[in-house]
Parts: sequence; C-alpha cells; structure tokens
Amino acid sequence: MQKTEVKKILESNIDWNTIKQAGYLLRTGGLVAFPTETVYGLGADALQPEASKKIYAAKGRPSDNPLIVHICKFEHLSKIVTCIPKAARLLADAFWPGPLTMILKKSDEVPIETTGGMDTVAVRMPSNKIALALIREGGGYIAAPSANTSGRPSPTMAEHVYEDLKNKIPLILDGGAVGIGIESTIIDLTEDIPVVLRPGYISLEMLASVIGDVRMDPGILSEDSDTKPKAPGMKYRHYAPKAEMIVVDGTQEKVVQKINMLSEEKFNEGKKVGIIGTEETVGCYKYGLIISIGKKKEEEIIAHNLYRILRELDESDVDIIFSESFSTPRMGQAIMNRLLKAAGHQVIVAE
Ligand code: AMP
Ligand code: MG
Repeated sequence: MQKTEVKKILESNIDWNTIKQAGYLLRTGGLVAFPTETVYGLGADALQPEASKKIYAAKGRPSDNPLIVHICKFEHLSKIVTCIPKAARLLADAFWPGPLTMILKKSDEVPIETTGGMDTVAVRMPSNKIALALIREGGGYIAAPSANTSGRPSPTMAEHVYEDLKNKIPLILDGGAVGIGIESTIIDLTEDIPVVLRPGYISLEMLASVIGDVRMDPGILSEDSDTKPKAPGMKYRHYAPKAEMIVVDGTQEKVVQKINMLSEEKFNEGKKVGIIGTEETVGCYKYGLIISIGKKKEEEIIAHNLYRILRELDESDVDIIFSESFSTPRMGQAIMNRLLKAAGHQVIVAE
C-alpha cells in the first residue's frame, strides 16, 4: 500500500518545488489531487490511457463515466478537439479560466479511456492558480474528476480527499477550502443548439448572454428515465451522504412544521436525525443535529457549504437527514440538482 503525502500550498505564494514534484508525478503517469475553484480534482495525464485508468480505479468510478480534461491555455485546445466552434471561442473569452466545461468533438490524441468510450471530450480551464501551474508542469492536459470516492459528496477541502483516497494516491496538494464548492457548469457544443448538461456557478442566462440560444437538458432536475440526461455520469448516484436523505419543499413555515413533525417521529423511534436549515430557520427546529447552511438568499454561501455539511453529517453518524429546499436566482438549479441527487430524489412537499 502506498502512503499518501499531503503538502500544503498557498495560491498566493505558490511553492514551485512542490508544483515540480507534482508535475513530475503526473508526467510519469501518477495521480495527484489538487484544488480548483469548484471542488478538489484527482489529476492524471489525460493523454496516457494507463494514467486515466488509475483515476477510475482510485475513485471506484464506473469506466463509462467520462473525465473532464483540464488545460491551462486556450491555444492548447486545438490538439485535443477536431474543430473549435465559434461558440467555444466566445464562451472561453467570457468564462475561462473559470467554472465552465465545454463538450467538443475529440481528436485522436485523446484516448477513449479518458472519455469513457465517447467520441467527444469535456474540456475546462480552471482559474485556481495552483491548478493552472500544475496543469502546465504536468504536461498541459490533465484529466481531473472530483477527488472523492465515486458516489460520495465531492471534496471541498483537502481533508475530504484524504478521507476518501488515503493510501490510494501518492500526493494531495492542500490549498485550503475551495471557493465555489460545486462542480463546473457543463455545456455540450456538439449539438445544433448548445445544451447545458450540468448546472453550476455559470447559469443558463449567463451563457445565453454570450452565445444566444442555449437549452437546459430536461434530465437535470428529474430522475425519470424518459428524460435520461445526455451526460453519461449523471445516471449514477452522486454526492450522497451515507444516511437516507429527504428534501422538504414548500413555504418556510410549512417546511419548518413538517421537518419538526418528521424529526420528532424519527427521534421517538430512536433514530439519530440531521437537519439542514438556514440562518432564518435553525432556531425553529427541535430535534436532532441542526446545521445552518447559510442565509436563504446567499446562494454562493449555500453552494460553498453544501458538500462539507453532507460530510459532517456522515461523520456524526446520523440515520436520516431532512433538508430544506432552496430556490435562488442564479445557482438555485445547480444547488437543487446536487441536493436532489444526494437525496436520491426523495422529496416531500409540505402542505
Ligand atoms: P466530475 O469531474 O466527477 O464532476 O464528472 C465529470 C462529468 O462530466 C461526467 O460525470 C459527465 O457527466 C460529464 N462529461 C465528461 N465528459 C463528457 C462527454 N464527453 N460528454 C458528456 N458529458 C461528459
Ligand atoms: Mg464527481
């Protein structure tokens, strides 16, 4: 068994020896976990099939769930795709480096081990400076899905990566807590009208303001197999805590009443209950471990806290989690998409 080294690194004062060591590991086919602005990534050289395979093995990820290739320079894109549509240029100008992933037709340089057998490739240029430096030192094309065990909440701190991948990978770069806290927006540019396959920090409206027509994949907030999302990985259970989880939807007053009723019931059955509420409501709950995710209107804080809270509830060994639902203007859909997946789409409407 290999021992995992955790190295602290500061985005404001990057230690180049650490980046060189990590870059060497990547170039020689090894794995390195590193911070990005969205969540921690588990990196490998995207152009080496054997390196990509190691990612799937370490995460326990199904081999048909494709990886996102991270680049550090727009000019590098041409090597891994067959053509760069105008929309890709416009979106890169507007949102790269940043939390946007584009799906394009892949070139022969990209092995199918990296794309889960698909003839398209997902590409992103992150804005985190540690990530950019590492991608450059690692050879320029780094496949990096979230650095968690497949199915668990994505890691937003190096401690989460260590929890899931200790002794499975040689190195974790610890750059502290990430900024955004949920994964990138994914847009498929291989369709006539671009499709958002995964909502994220960059909303449909922000994309439409740059390229005009964009549509949302209908599978994003549903579990219905008729509206199966096009993004292959989306079919798997994701982001899930160990405990059963139920999202309670409705007006604030009704939601609080319902969660109090349900949690009292569970409490009386001898179950350990966790509740995800907001600053406005946490004072109104009575039973169980009550956690505030932030103020109802502060969507960036809610997104930032979500995965950390799911992991904290796991650590506390709760049997069941009740969460409020969130509706905020820009990231609301992204937050609900993750929350519903974490809950396996168990929703109760409080009336
Ligand atoms: P992760 O990096 O773990 O957040 O997962 C990356 C996700 O990107 C996958 O689960 C897919 O849903 C999506 N993805 C990656 N490559 C492609 C592709 N070629 N076509 C469609 N979706 C993709
Ligand atoms: Mg993931």
